[in-house]
Amino acid sequence: MPLCHVPRPLPTAFIGYSLVFTKEKDDNRPMNEKFSPLFAVLTLFLPERCRACHRPSATALCPDCLAAVTYCGEGKSDAGEPPCRSLCLYQQPVAGLIHRLKYTADRGVLPALAAIAARCDIGDEEADLIIPVPLYADRLKQRGLNQSLLLAQLLFPRRRWAIRNDILIRHRPTTPQTGLSGAARRQNLGDAFSLASKSEVIHGKRLLLVDDVRTTGSTLAECGRVLLAHGAGSVSCLTFARVDL
Ligand SMILES: [Zn+2]
Repeated sequence: MPLCHVPRPLPTAFIGYSLVFTKEKDDNRPMNEKFSPLFAVLTLFLPERCRACHRPSATALCPDCLAAVTYCGEGKSDAGEPPCRSLCLYQQPVAGLIHRLKYTADRGVLPALAAIAARCDIGDEEADLIIPVPLYADRLKQRGLNQSLLLAQLLFPRRRWAIRNDILIRHRPTTPQTGLSGAARRQNLGDAFSLASKSEVIHGKRLLLVDDVRTTGSTLAECGRVLLAHGAGSVSCLTFARVDL
């Protein structure tokens, strides 16, 4: 099933979502501490800028940056993995936007990511539960947000009731899977995830795992394995971007 169809006009809601957040480099304070009401008022008098290239733009993502996004067609899944679809390739400007969200807690990029998502047919209305890939607790504390949860909320604004970040838990940090052999990946992820809730919650349910980026697919595969082992009816995956390995 193709993920994207003919691009659609951007909803005006995204155009209106224009509060600008800035942060100093290496400033790791939570966003709610950095956000100033006075600054918010001042931004009303500043020209809107593209979240990616920072040039003046009437929309969160300027036409040039929007045109630079490489949307994905068919999903990509290796043998033994749950079926996985991605909205677009992990290239600029998407890579920069996700990096800022993930590593600098810059929620100001969300309208730009929403503009990209608005051009895609997300589908998956049939999933019973939507499960963001969890972060390790220490990493969540360090980053201040789970980008997968924010992206799940962005992708399924009318199905927030179905988004559950209390089902899967990550027990320990894992290193990036890129460059690891198959055996090393399994060792890296072994026992990293488990069910945080009672298995009845997912028994027989159609589950959709959501992550920011699919690199090797190993993390999604391990999450899917845990969920299926505890009785999930089916597991599929959706990521915002995919590394074109
Ligand atoms: Zn731009």
